[in-house]
Amino acid sequence: MSRGAESPPARPHHARIASGVAPETTPARAMQGKQTMHFGVYSLGQEVVMLYRLSRAGLTSGKGATAFRLRTRGVTIFLDTWLDKPDVMSSYLAVDDVTEADYIFISHAHLDHLPGADRIAIKTGAIVIANCEAINCLRDAGVPEEQLFPVQGGERIPLFTSEIRIKTKEYESMRNPGFPGAPPMPAELSVHVWPSLHCLMPQDHPEVIDTATVYTGAASPYSCTLDITSGMKYGLLRIGDWLPAEKLTPGHRSFIRYVEDRKRNVFSHCDGGQLMFNFLVPTAAGDTKALLWSAHLGGYEAVLRAMQPKPDTAILGIAGRANLDGRPFVGSAAEFASRQVGWLGNPAQVIWCLHDETCIPPYKIDTDAATVAVEKSGKTKVLPLKHAEMVSLGL
Ligand SMILES: [Zn+2]
Repeated sequence: MSRGAESPPARPHHARIASGVAPETTPARAMQGKQTMHFGVYSLGQEVVMLYRLSRAGLTSGKGATAFRLRTRGVTIFLDTWLDKPDVMSSYLAVDDVTEADYIFISHAHLDHLPGADRIAIKTGAIVIANCEAINCLRDAGVPEEQLFPVQGGERIPLFTSEIRIKTKEYESMRNPGFPGAPPMPAELSVHVWPSLHCLMPQDHPEVIDTATVYTGAASPYSCTLDITSGMKYGLLRIGDWLPAEKLTPGHRSFIRYVEDRKRNVFSHCDGGQLMFNFLVPTAAGDTKALLWSAHLGGYEAVLRAMQPKPDTAILGIAGRANLDGRPFVGSAAEFASRQVGWLGNPAQVIWCLHDETCIPPYKIDTDAATVAVEKSGKTKVLPLKHAEMVSLGL
């Protein structure tokens, strides 16, 4: 992230609208001028969106993780917070080592996404934006109510630096009547929340999931995400009860230790409703770039087709059997991803998530077929990310 612009950048008009600017009373206008000067230390022309892939692997039905740190416009954002993992797995940033966070977005409340959010939020004062199941878990874990923003899809939320939010608290007159706690000034960026869907599990529970594998049929006429909820509650979280001791690998044992420590590892067996988040970043040129994070291989076609603005970059979950409109997708993960990317208007960059190695089967996801499928149009490139390495998205 680069700092040091000589003069404050012009704030694009759309960002002003997104923030829900209060009527211009004299005190508000005076304060707004001060704050705009402060915003000017960040150069929209030079600053880039930095994305930091934090997690190596995931566990929900054996898939890779979705945790990223996103830094842009002076705002530090966590996308999921699964940083502390079962002890046999690599960790790239410990929850206790996180010192800075303005917002935490949670894709859903499962054990490989939500844990860590409570401790990071309590330590940093970050706002958590998540579904009600995740919010209830975090409330029970002691996160202050004022930091908890429950959403379910359809919301639009302006985002600010922590400094601005703290100042807003101090000056009651700065409070925006249009949105809780939002100051009457242009937002640094904003986010649109959309309903999405958790993937389903292939019935054969393979050790490696190949995105070229074509799935047809279903386990029952009622196959849906309730299978994931039940499988989590009675299967995965009780693996030590039903898997014979001689079949328990070190990975299984590590996993069991992890899920039994519910005080430290806060999560639910119920996803609470998968969400996806489209971040709108204003540019110096006065337009908007969008970054979509959809952490699972699933979604509603109508929502994906209708989404505006279309993302320039999309972080997409690529594991399991795709879930289209609540039903098992007939076809391969690669075929689903290709359709999904088309509905999203062929974003220039796609980043896979939820696909790398884990400690229980399925151990990993082969993404080659999916990459070929989404790059076929010639409009989209898959951006490979190494763990714990920061990249600029050029947004
Ligand atoms: Zn999950």
